[in-house]
Amino acid sequence: MGLEEQLPSGFLLSTVEKLADWARSSSLWPMTFGLACCGMELMAAGDPRHDFSRWGMERASATPRQADVMIVAGRVSQKMAPVLRRLYDQMTGPKWVIAMGVCASSGGMFNNYAVVQGVDHIVPVDVYLPGCPPRPEMLLDAILKLHDRIQNETLGAHRKAQVAELDERALPG
Ligand code: SF4
Repeated sequence: MGLEEQLPSGFLLSTVEKLADWARSSSLWPMTFGLACCGMELMAAGDPRHDFSRWGMERASATPRQADVMIVAGRVSQKMAPVLRRLYDQMTGPKWVIAMGVCASSGGMFNNYAVVQGVDHIVPVDVYLPGCPPRPEMLLDAILKLHDRIQNETLGAHRKAQVAELDERALPG
């Protein structure tokens, strides 16, 4: 009797999927994207006291091609929006986005023409983190929530959802 007949249907695929999801969530490489005051708290999350390298994130990437999570820390100006979108497009998939702080999530106190009213107008957001600024512990909590999400994802499903979402987003002209 062959291996396929002895194993329950889908066993092999679902096990590989779980392994891949676990590996992905345990080795996220963040792209440095501190845009304003929230960037200070983002940097503090990597210091020895908070140490996000405990979850495989010690390698902050200055290049989008070697990053898979973009942590948008601070308000996004209209001029920065096309740059942010280009960097996001240059990241290799699968990739995720955390909107850190109320400004990145919704524009916050900057309810004016110069600031994007939420980075989800530009790129799909996986986790919204409230606060002004959120403490490093809150960012670590958001990262762990993202881990849960990644570990429960079906391979390829995230990418399909991203493509569908991106189609709905036009860059400000
Ligand atoms: Fe600064 Fe607060 Fe906005 Fe963060 S949420 S960028 S701390 S004003």
